[in-house]
Amino acid sequence: MTFTVAVISDNTTKLQYSDDGLQLISLDVNDISASQNLNRDISAFIIDTKNAALAHSWVIAIRGDAEYFSHLLYLHHFSHILTDVNVPKSSADLLQQLNDWSQRKAQLRLSDSSQLNHQVIQYLWLNKSRCITVKKSLKKEKGFYYPLLDLWSDVDTAGKLAWLGKQCNAGFLQKVKLINRTRSCKQCDSAMLNFIDTCPSCKSIDILTEQALHCFTCGHIAKEQTFQRDNRISCPNCLTQLRHIGTDYDRPIENIRCNSCNNLSINSEARAQCFSCEEDNDIDRLFINNFYQYQLAINGLTLAQSGSLDAPLPVDLRESVSKEHMAWLLNWLIHTPTADETQFHRLIKIRIVNYQQLLQEKSELLAEQLLSDFRQRLAILIGDQNTFCDMASDVWLYAFPFTSELALDEFKQQLLNIAEDAVDNALEISVVEYDLVEKKEEGEMLSWINRIIEQQ
Ligand SMILES: [Zn+2]
Ligand SMILES: [Zn+2]
Ligand SMILES: [Zn+2]
Repeated sequence: MTFTVAVISDNTTKLQYSDDGLQLISLDVNDISASQNLNRDISAFIIDTKNAALAHSWVIAIRGDAEYFSHLLYLHHFSHILTDVNVPKSSADLLQQLNDWSQRKAQLRLSDSSQLNHQVIQYLWLNKSRCITVKKSLKKEKGFYYPLLDLWSDVDTAGKLAWLGKQCNAGFLQKVKLINRTRSCKQCDSAMLNFIDTCPSCKSIDILTEQALHCFTCGHIAKEQTFQRDNRISCPNCLTQLRHIGTDYDRPIENIRCNSCNNLSINSEARAQCFSCEEDNDIDRLFINNFYQYQLAINGLTLAQSGSLDAPLPVDLRESVSKEHMAWLLNWLIHTPTADETQFHRLIKIRIVNYQQLLQEKSELLAEQLLSDFRQRLAILIGDQNTFCDMASDVWLYAFPFTSELALDEFKQQLLNIAEDAVDNALEISVVEYDLVEKKEEGEMLSWINRIIEQQ
């Protein structure tokens, strides 16, 4: 297989890629109009220029193009939030990345990019190292923005944050980490705020911290300087000489003096004045914006591979999936290592050990009732991330993607509690954990699942 790679450069640089599997075509970096009329066979773009403004224009043109928005795009000499990070070091490396990309493209069933979430899912699916992340900008009202989403949608940042929240709730995206948090004006949503101390009484900004003394004899409080007379301290009001702190006088904790209303207070009051609309905000009433980095979640992956969620795959993650889907999911997890060392993927088999015995000792109806009660309580325990599969009336498999030792221990403990709660008709439950690391072929995964169901 030969991949067509567009190398966008000026004549000053020379690229070292060359291989039988690569067909390189050159584009002049100065001719941005060429981005309007690109060769349809292109699989990847490499921008090689030291002119940052030109490089940026090309990146925007490619990522903003309906045909090429999800293609591999590398940038030499600079880093750019919209390009693929792992710039290939050699021809072999480039070929490897192209192969990975085209394999993932072959698995992709989602082709419509008119909906923002479909476009985002395709983009993220085609290269696992991609994510949706934020950038700082003084030109944006909230101080941060999502460059990719801004390129693909006109909605304002508040609308995008709400959209991202919805994508997470629907299981398409998941938060990877919190990048930053801003507070913005309750009137106009701008994050360009001036935090300033004011007088709590009259809101004047003309305040200062003064060192004051408090005379115990007459109760007079005033600036320290007014007490100083010929190297001694005496009260300007009652003229008593003050010798010992704690006995004759002390320093009051109220030492914020307002030059407008002469009020003395313990604390000043912080206000947030908006640079954009001049609203004077109470700092406790500002909007809080959390900016996260996002990745695909299980429903997004399912949608990428199935093309739609009303296909044979479950929309509601609380419904059992088919054995084939479970095999596909496990395979996918095995090929998706977790970034965090304390996280891993596990498959858990839950079996009712005394199922046959229950059927013999109780009526079938009663046994079913017991199991369904158990399953209902189990469903509450299980999160939306845990796809499960009913293998038989008494055996279920649960996938635990991106989980931790702590979360699993907690789950197992709660499971035992549920089983023990059924006092009169105790269910005997066995829980077996399987580590998902060993790579298997697609068909092999299905037979492995069949094998582990039969194991006691
Ligand atoms: Zn005042
Ligand atoms: Zn006094
Ligand atoms: Zn404002």
